[in-house]
Amino acid sequence: MLNKNVSRREFIKRNSLTGLGAVLTPSLLANSIEKQAISAPMSASTGPAIYSSSGRPALLGGAPLRTKEWPAWPIWKPETDEKQLLEVIRSGVWSRAKLANEFEQKWAQTLGVKRSLLVVNGTNALIIALNQLNIRAGDEVIVPPYTFIATVSAVLATGAMPIFVDVDPETFQIDPARIEAKITPRTKAIMPVHILGLPADMTRIMAIAKKHNLVVVEDACQAHLAELNHQKVGTIGHAGCFSFQNSKNLPIGEGGAIVSNDDAFMDRCFSYQNFGNPYGAGVGSVSIGSSMQGTKLRTTEYQAAIGLAQLERLDAQTTTRNENAGYLKSKIKDIPGIVPYKLYDEVTRGAFHLFPFRYQKEGFKGLPRAGFLKALQAEGVPCSSGYATLNNQPYLNDAFQSKNFRKIYPKEMLDFKQYVAQNQCPQNDRLCNEEAVWFTQNLLLGPQSDMDEIVAAIEKVHTYAEQLAKLNNK
Ligand SMILES: *Cc1c(COP(=O)(O)O)cnc(C)c1O
Repeated sequence: MLNKNVSRREFIKRNSLTGLGAVLTPSLLANSIEKQAISAPMSASTGPAIYSSSGRPALLGGAPLRTKEWPAWPIWKPETDEKQLLEVIRSGVWSRAKLANEFEQKWAQTLGVKRSLLVVNGTNALIIALNQLNIRAGDEVIVPPYTFIATVSAVLATGAMPIFVDVDPETFQIDPARIEAKITPRTKAIMPVHILGLPADMTRIMAIAKKHNLVVVEDACQAHLAELNHQKVGTIGHAGCFSFQNSKNLPIGEGGAIVSNDDAFMDRCFSYQNFGNPYGAGVGSVSIGSSMQGTKLRTTEYQAAIGLAQLERLDAQTTTRNENAGYLKSKIKDIPGIVPYKLYDEVTRGAFHLFPFRYQKEGFKGLPRAGFLKALQAEGVPCSSGYATLNNQPYLNDAFQSKNFRKIYPKEMLDFKQYVAQNQCPQNDRLCNEEAVWFTQNLLLGPQSDMDEIVAAIEKVHTYAEQLAKLNNK
């Protein structure tokens, strides 16, 4: 699964830069990135574009439908983004100081939450949050299987046991109806993930958590500015965590944040990422020494400067992604074999880190998903099959065989075969192994005519599905 994600990040990089690099000089490249990503989404309409979906598919010798580059990612505008960054670099104040504070205040304000703490990455934001909510070895934490591995790695890092709850395939999110059956006396937390940037069903999850006295840590690492009933995700549970890794909707390169309305908790999180040095309500003074166990996961000032520059455009980009996603969904939903994502009724905004749909080969004359992806890619539309199943991989057994796990858990809980049998998620298996298809968020940043091209490419593959299936069988 790690490979898949790495290749996804690679994939974004490649699709935004190569092919194009061979034709354009660096300055022209920068120029065209500007046009694509900044001016294009702002123009309301580029007029009716006509894309023929009747020509032969590229895989069958036809011309690829899309030859233009897609919006590049990340976006960097020297004229607006570099001033503060250069000032920081020239100042020599590189460890966290006032810009990190400023970013934290702005991020909290943007989300409508009391506090935010900027740290090295999203994975460690999750680890810190779990740790400071007292999740420890011997505890069980409920997670969805349809996520990036870091969700589960964070649980294992605390010494707790991840317990997988299957997804609702229509929304790609953890299925609240299946959570209670997995709660045991060891269960201490639920970690919903707003995967793909689409909100999980927090209303039902919070009700279950309340009933069973569990803490909720939202993995909002893909869900910047997504909302349920106009409340930003990440601010609904006891804590929320974000990632600012390069592929994410607010890219810094590396970075992450914890957000919460609980001051005492946020003070402890701050202390923890700063050697346990006292902070806020934390007792003691730095000169006397640390009163709590900690580590070092601090950010830098130049990361904060990049984050502040990116934050300026996040809201407008999110609007563009929502508009394009809604339009694309409406245009492909009636193609047989294409089942786009569903949003819960309470969703007032998505983040659309990815645009997902389910591909059902029965609607495409039996053309397997891999053949569909290959044909669509040949048309110039980058796409992928997304995640592999996370609930049966060797990394889990590796943790179970560690000294710490063997000291804490009874032998039968560490029986990998038994664990896999108890953590089966057939809905997720089908998504991962057969049905899920993704477009990355940068494809949603261009003009609406880009969506028309994606639609036409899918229609073309649909029209020629039988021939493509034959090609696939050879
Ligand atoms: C990216 C991501 C993380 C980890 O964030 P990093 O900043 O890469 O450490 C965690 N959970 C999910 C769902 C993610 O997509």
